[in-house]
Amino acid sequence: MTKIYFFGECMVELRELDDATMGQSFAGDVYNSAVYMKRCFANITVAMVTAIGRDRLSEKMLTRFKREELDTQFVFQHPSKVPGMYFIETDSAGERRFTYWRNDSAAKKVVQFLNDDVVEQLTAADMFFFSGIPLAIIDEDSRDAFWQKLECLKLAGVKLVFDPNYRAQLWVSKDDAIAQFNKAFHLSDIALPGVEDLSVLYGIKSAQEAIDFCQQYNLEEVVVKDGPKSVITLTGTERHSHQITPVTNVVDTTSAGDAFNGVYLGARLSGKNVFDAVQLGAKAAGTVIQHPGAIAPLVAFKQAMSEAGI
Ligand code: ADP
Repeated sequence: MTKIYFFGECMVELRELDDATMGQSFAGDVYNSAVYMKRCFANITVAMVTAIGRDRLSEKMLTRFKREELDTQFVFQHPSKVPGMYFIETDSAGERRFTYWRNDSAAKKVVQFLNDDVVEQLTAADMFFFSGIPLAIIDEDSRDAFWQKLECLKLAGVKLVFDPNYRAQLWVSKDDAIAQFNKAFHLSDIALPGVEDLSVLYGIKSAQEAIDFCQQYNLEEVVVKDGPKSVITLTGTERHSHQITPVTNVVDTTSAGDAFNGVYLGARLSGKNVFDAVQLGAKAAGTVIQHPGAIAPLVAFKQAMSEAGI
């Protein structure tokens, strides 16, 4: 069975429903991608690699993973830490603002759970997905170990997939982020950057420039997301620009890129070509942004994807 591991952090999400009430759910970039992939491609084993706590919310999070049919074999439970949390505000244009409580989250400790035995088991995967967010949050003194474990996976033939997902506030400096991203781009087989991520760090202004930037690395597949403007792909030396149908009813753009990533990769793992995979990823992202929060309601999401032939 085809298998992918999503490495990173899932957090407790809080959203204001009215002046006196908060809605609570769970979200985090790699978790969002995992959920959307599994909802579309039930025959892929979609697994989380993360650390949570042993508190009540962590237990609820684990239950949610299972309800979304994610494999939880490598969801480790730290004895004393708890999950990170964030509060999301969305303005009338659908742009979001976040407040975080995550500096001491269990997920920062995830690398310490990845012993040789676990790494050996992870080599059974077809793909291992990680983003700039786990890179930013894992304890600094576990970074070298993380890169060594990734090298083991690559040597064993696991395809490494990277989305920079740059969040300035998570990094001590731009140079630190650039140094880590450089390692990630060097080691990865597939990259799924957004233009915005690269513009702040590297001064890149367009999707074409982002592709040019990615060409310096040994990537076999690059997908550059540029909001509603376009998606540009590079496979080998073939560069293609894909049209995106803009959504007019944007409610909340949270997790657009995550939904795209999950469904795009699921489509590729299922044997679809790059053109079809981009259209499916874009359909998923375009659906998700018409709903509040990171995870769109199951029924509405599945309905939209069934219209796209999934
Ligand atoms: P991120 O969420 O990482 O910032 P983007 O803003 O580039 O990523 O969006 C990711 C994907 O979401 C795009 O490639 C596109 O498919 C889809 N998308 C984003 N905004 C819109 C929109 N207004 N209309 C339709 N699709 C959109």
